[in-house]
Amino acid sequence: MARHPMKPLLQIIMTAFTSLLFAAIVGCASSHAETASLQAPPLSQPNPSYQVPPYQTTAPAKLRWISGRNDLQIAALTFDDGPHPQYTPRILAELKKRNVKATFFTLGRSVDRWPEITAQIAADGHEIGNHTYTHGNLSKMSTANIKKEMDQGRDAIVRATGQHPRIMRAPYGAIKSSQRQMIYDTYKYPEIFWSVDSRDWESKNAASVTNVIMKTTRPGGIILVHDIQKSAVDALPVFLDRLIAKGYKFVTVSELIRVSSLANPESAIAR
Ligand SMILES: [Zn+2]
Repeated sequence: MARHPMKPLLQIIMTAFTSLLFAAIVGCASSHAETASLQAPPLSQPNPSYQVPPYQTTAPAKLRWISGRNDLQIAALTFDDGPHPQYTPRILAELKKRNVKATFFTLGRSVDRWPEITAQIAADGHEIGNHTYTHGNLSKMSTANIKKEMDQGRDAIVRATGQHPRIMRAPYGAIKSSQRQMIYDTYKYPEIFWSVDSRDWESKNAASVTNVIMKTTRPGGIILVHDIQKSAVDALPVFLDRLIAKGYKFVTVSELIRVSSLANPESAIAR
């Protein structure tokens, strides 16, 4: 398909980003040329009809993601440690009301306990990432035990949803670089960290969760909350509405990675 002529915003971006990092991003964009004919909406306006495209199976350019590109008003909302029998359905309802897609880093043992809720997460179009089976500290484990955690975490998700996870998050964010490489080589999962830490487990206070998220969310941000924390569930409608009012468009983590790997940022968002 033919590419559209470059627009002024894109020209500015292309001129500004001459670093090696950007060159690397451009280098992996050729496989996404088919999306280049799509038109982008104004960045300041949320687009309720935004459709998340299917995940591209090409391996992401980086093993570790803390945030995505910062020149689009997008963010990835991530829920860790669920599913939870009461909170996760409440979260799904709030997300559905706003047509927001999120990412759930589930624990395999909880998936096995509540497979129907896990299946609903997937059916609603959210992404499910592998957060191990027991929430063990990977940085203190042998390779064999890490693989056991990842295998069991993955298998629970596949049993419940029929879908394979494509990303992982280490419990506590604790992982050695050699372990990250091993996981990437074995499972093709990049490790997903975060740029916005709600610390919902610490404050246990919805107003505090909202304040932290509103103060620290930037374009391309990856927001960490927990669907086992009441403070996060109570805060969710408030901070979602405020971020949407600021023009944020929420994407799954794999979509954030895909968009952040494109040379043409405007092509990433469909009308
Ligand atoms: Zn966790």
